Amino acid sequence: MAIASVNPATGAVLKSFDPLSAEEIERRLARAAATFSTWRRTTFAERAALMRAAADLLDAERRDIAVTMTSEMGKTLASAQAEAAKCAAGMRFYADRAAGFLADEPIAEPSDVGASRALVRYQPIGAVLAVMPWNFPLWQVMRFAAPALMAGNVGLLKHASNVPQCALYLEDLFLRAGFPAGAFQTLLISAGQVESVLRDPRVAAATVTGSEPAGQSVASICGDEIKKTVLELGGSDPFVVMPSADLERAAAVAVTARCQNNGQSCIAAKRFIIHEDVYDEFTRLFTERLAALTVGDPMVEGTDIGPIATEQGRVDLEELLADAVAKGATVLCGGTSPDGPGWFFPPTAVADVTPAMRLHLEEAFGPLATLYRVPDLDAALAVANATSFGLGSNAWTTDPDEQERFADELVAGAVFLNGMTASHPQLPFGGVRRSGYGRELSAIGIREFCNQKTIWVG
Ligand code: NAP
Repeated sequence: MAIASVNPATGAVLKSFDPLSAEEIERRLARAAATFSTWRRTTFAERAALMRAAADLLDAERRDIAVTMTSEMGKTLASAQAEAAKCAAGMRFYADRAAGFLADEPIAEPSDVGASRALVRYQPIGAVLAVMPWNFPLWQVMRFAAPALMAGNVGLLKHASNVPQCALYLEDLFLRAGFPAGAFQTLLISAGQVESVLRDPRVAAATVTGSEPAGQSVASICGDEIKKTVLELGGSDPFVVMPSADLERAAAVAVTARCQNNGQSCIAAKRFIIHEDVYDEFTRLFTERLAALTVGDPMVEGTDIGPIATEQGRVDLEELLADAVAKGATVLCGGTSPDGPGWFFPPTAVADVTPAMRLHLEEAFGPLATLYRVPDLDAALAVANATSFGLGSNAWTTDPDEQERFADELVAGAVFLNGMTASHPQLPFGGVRRSGYGRELSAIGIREFCNQKTIWVG
């Protein structure tokens, strides 16, 4: 994929970039290693001051960078600004909390292991390569970068090829805030250039947010090199609605949960599993709201849904839908891409989905919802868990016993009850099964790329 900004609302190429040469990559890896040797020795207070300065800059520049985000990947300007604000909040969270999260942890009974004192110390491990997707072009990066830098690691970013200006902005942001030049560097490289970076001994670990093939490739190379990885991959989150749910609220949240970020979120609710007693009513409320959304220019206030980020992304949705319709699915609303420039796709709901359809098993990365009618809670759980993914999940019920069963039995990295799956700096974020492994955010996230060193004193 060429490294270029292409406006998905028009198809116009805005700017193209040459990938870095081998010599330039070498210079950057050397700089990362040199910086790590001193950066790791800085205090939490020193790092926190720089992180807060970067957060302040980002807040001040929120509108400008939001315009860049919207032009490169099509999210609405309002949601781009909200994303920038969320990044600044996440940076301040780790500036405030990293020292506590990574403080020495004394073992309560050292004499049990023959020691006078024993503890766990969290130490940085070096340069971490972050392979990142375009869908939240700032937040995906920042939820890696803020904890990594606060832990004393240095970051290398291989961003998605369609958001190079966001990638360059992030490097520049940290530099202008006063971070040393090698603390956070953007590598404008193709996916094919990732392997040599991963195999470089100066790179200690990698994190991938993206598709299964990207995760498989990076993890197998890192496996070969015995390097730590965290994988945040795809999802096809269930959204279960039981009879006790507040249907109006559930339907309103369901629309947001499916259509946030133009439907291109790993933790978007994608499969709506509705108890038969409330199926008709929920479906009416849900499809009415979906059909009322405004699709159009993401720069314009009042637009709910902008274009799909890439032409291929829209083709993928159209193919999933065509396969389902050919095999008997019913389109309840939407379904036809508009003529004209830009890769727009209308909010679409599909019923009568069967396991023979690709849409049943594959991730729909756009505003395309599938609806399932189920007779009871066991059936709801069975449909919800009949997926190779396990990222987020949502269930709506006010019955405490049902809540407990969903919390316990949904196979996912997160269960949100009577609400919509979202990422928060305070909560661990990640998946199971083919959605990946490891966690980002919270105390768990910052420890992923630390040497959790055991210290035993006789
Ligand atoms: P993608 O094609 O996998 O791209 C993600 C990143 O991986 C890009 O930087 C891409 O570079 C790179 N990449 C692709 N193939 C690679 C390979 N073989 N080796 C090394 N790097 C490679 O995914 P996407 O289409 O941008 O993003 C959508 C996917 O990401 C969805 O499945 C979504 O669910 C998932 N996602 C997951 C999370 C999560 O937290 N779990 C969050 C957001 C998105 P190029 O752009 O140069 O190809």
